[in-house]
Amino acid sequence: MQTIHEPSAIGRRCESLRREGKTIGLVPTMGAFHEGHLSLMRRARAENDVVIVSIFVNPIQFARGEDFESYPRDLQGDLAQAERAEVDLVFTPSAEEIYPDGFQTYVDVTEITKGLCGASRPEHFRGVTTIVTKLFNLIRAHRAYFGQKDYQQSAAVRRLVADLNLDLEIVLLPTVREADGLAISSRNVRLAPEERQAACVLYTSLRLAEERVGSGERDAKTILDEMRSVIEAEPLAHLDYVALCDPETLKPLDRIEDPMLAVLAVRFGKTRLIDNLLLTLP
Ligand code: AMP
Repeated sequence: MQTIHEPSAIGRRCESLRREGKTIGLVPTMGAFHEGHLSLMRRARAENDVVIVSIFVNPIQFARGEDFESYPRDLQGDLAQAERAEVDLVFTPSAEEIYPDGFQTYVDVTEITKGLCGASRPEHFRGVTTIVTKLFNLIRAHRAYFGQKDYQQSAAVRRLVADLNLDLEIVLLPTVREADGLAISSRNVRLAPEERQAACVLYTSLRLAEERVGSGERDAKTILDEMRSVIEAEPLAHLDYVALCDPETLKPLDRIEDPMLAVLAVRFGKTRLIDNLLLTLP
């Protein structure tokens, strides 16, 4: 497995891989690998000649006061795990190389990034879509792999690829969960033991929505009220938002449609967790 730091060097390497006729699968990450990341790497391994993983904690997607400084980082551990997952190449640029002095160009997907996480993190998705565009341009992958856990992020990336006529396939893979249903996240390690226990309410609340839809409830407000009650019954949980929305536009729905996205964000102390379930009518 090769590690490359410089953007110009990865550009050259990928150019020559394409000339050799190799297909390239890209897994963009911020590191601190867990089973969720590894599931994307495995799928990329199965579908491409060359697997490239980027590790970059992207400063422009964190607002002042968010957890950029304290975001979990473990480069040595990540490299060992990537090697075991048979990744061919890891791209680990520095912030100075990605955003050199004078940098001033951003990619902004304007509508589907406004609500949900965008409401409390107004510049977050602009940071995500800008770094993803830069990675797509440097690596020119045939396929890029994203997790459903960050559903709004993947929706913004799909929109960006369609709107800017980018020539690659976006592959969305299911959320990998702990045995008790908690979506695996790099941020879970920051939960105190009692917060970790309490964090089950995200999945419990999503499963409740699934059950209600399954048993015929079609009024979104009724389901949302029940989802909120589950979160509010947990003293350590502070609800940021809960929504039932159209999976394409991410606009809230009054009546249940097929398919529909149930999605929420909940804080435990300083740690903010997100999760979602795609619901289909029976
Ligand atoms: P991150 O390093 O958190 O930016 O995540 C990198 C990629 O891994 C993103 O596409 C995430 O959606 C995906 N990912 C994170 N957690 C999970 C999970 N539990 N299951 C599946 N994919 C995940």
